[in-house]
Amino acid sequence: MTNFTHPFLDLDGDKLREECGIFGVIRGADASAICALGLHALQHRGQEAVGITSFDGAEFFTRRGLGHVADNFSTEEALAELPGAMAAGHVRYSTTGGAGMRNVQPLYADLASGGFAVAHNGNISNARKLRQELVEKGAIFQSTSDTEVIIHLVATSRYPTTLDRLVDALRLVEGAYALIVMTPRGMIACRDPLGIRPLVMGKLGDSTIFASETVALDVVGAVFVRQVDPGEFVEVDFEGNVRCHRPFGDPAPRPCIFEHVYFSRPDSIFNDRSVYEARKNIGMELAKENPCDADLVVPVPDSGVPAAIGYSQQSGIPFELGIIRSHYVGRTFIQPSDGARHAGVKRKHNANRLLVEGKRIVLIDDSIVRGTTSLKIVQMMRDAGAAEVHFRVASPPTGHGCYYGVDTPERSKLLAGRMDLAAMREFIQADSLAFVSIDGLYRAVGLEGRNDACPQYCDACFTGEYPTSLTDLADKTVREAQLDLPVGKVA
Ligand code: AMP
Repeated sequence: MTNFTHPFLDLDGDKLREECGIFGVIRGADASAICALGLHALQHRGQEAVGITSFDGAEFFTRRGLGHVADNFSTEEALAELPGAMAAGHVRYSTTGGAGMRNVQPLYADLASGGFAVAHNGNISNARKLRQELVEKGAIFQSTSDTEVIIHLVATSRYPTTLDRLVDALRLVEGAYALIVMTPRGMIACRDPLGIRPLVMGKLGDSTIFASETVALDVVGAVFVRQVDPGEFVEVDFEGNVRCHRPFGDPAPRPCIFEHVYFSRPDSIFNDRSVYEARKNIGMELAKENPCDADLVVPVPDSGVPAAIGYSQQSGIPFELGIIRSHYVGRTFIQPSDGARHAGVKRKHNANRLLVEGKRIVLIDDSIVRGTTSLKIVQMMRDAGAAEVHFRVASPPTGHGCYYGVDTPERSKLLAGRMDLAAMREFIQADSLAFVSIDGLYRAVGLEGRNDACPQYCDACFTGEYPTSLTDLADKTVREAQLDLPVGKVA
């Protein structure tokens, strides 16, 4: 889900990307309460805004709010506004400060066929172009979200059923989407043909549930049935009939490998693998590839913990909590300005001084993005008296922006986009710096290595190989070349 600040222009680096979590339940006695609980388990996927839409057999009801799920949906009064046996919701993390309530999902529209509500995780990489075409044909947009493009395309499709209209609309869409759609006839859940963003299916008694991650199924007490396959559309009606369709054939899937590295909760199963196991394995690969003479393995909490356990088990160097994290501070990444991000890092982590003093430390984190966190943490270890500080990263260098719904900024803002390994080491002021290799990462998720001819995951943030075309980005580059502006700045 991207936001536009202008229908045709603005595609400014880290301003527009969003991360999201979605959850839907049909045939549930307390559908909206189950939905709120499920969204709570997906809170790590988006902390800025939350919304739930329900359907009671006659009408749709929506409630949205800024902030966390618990801030908006923890009272009986709030849930009483959302009656019915079907509900779907969305948690959103946008770096666009002024996005406001109108972009908070689910989005809803009254179409000729009846009500249509949609919750979207992912980014459409040609949304700007589609929007421009729709606006030129007279479409009036209510929000600045790319998800609304899907609604307009569905509304103007000439096919008879909602499913066919949705498929027709999505044929025009490029990029990443996991969607939960509600209509008066039931729920449709689908993933883009490459399955870039995750979506799973579960059962809770007679209810069918869809969620971005399995952890949400666990938390509501549902059983994990299977993932919604890449390119699959699963339709569920109020009688409990489930119909599956694969209108896009069978392209080789490319799920996002960053879900394994950072994004999913470690207690989730992603792409049929335990996220925790994968992270631990990455740590083991990292230790094999980049050993280090040190006294302690110290994770950057919480993101580096499973990989640090793996590094410690593989290397035999003791795992210790050399940094303690406050649980009352949000993700440092969420701060919009660099200044605020720096302050955020300090409030979030503190050195366990007596443990660290005089020791040679191997710090482990899942990734380096801008380098803000690593620079602070290395300094923190030195201030606490560490004798040496080595940094090991449980992913390859993040050198390329994500255009599929993970908030990885554009290349010019990424440390690995701007610097080589030696310069990055110098920047974060570590005694040594190393990253796991791309093949090491693939081995950690149970494969023999990356199949360069046909990569098994979307790893564009590490390799720069994007599995779809990036129409809006290409248009923007052309436009800026015409205006003679550097890429990343919008006139
Ligand atoms: P930075 O300080 O910019 O280098 O950010 C690195 C930290 O952000 C790491 O500790 C990661 O755990 C975390 N991180 C990496 N990618 C993301 C993302 N897309 N959204 C939020 N946090 C992230």
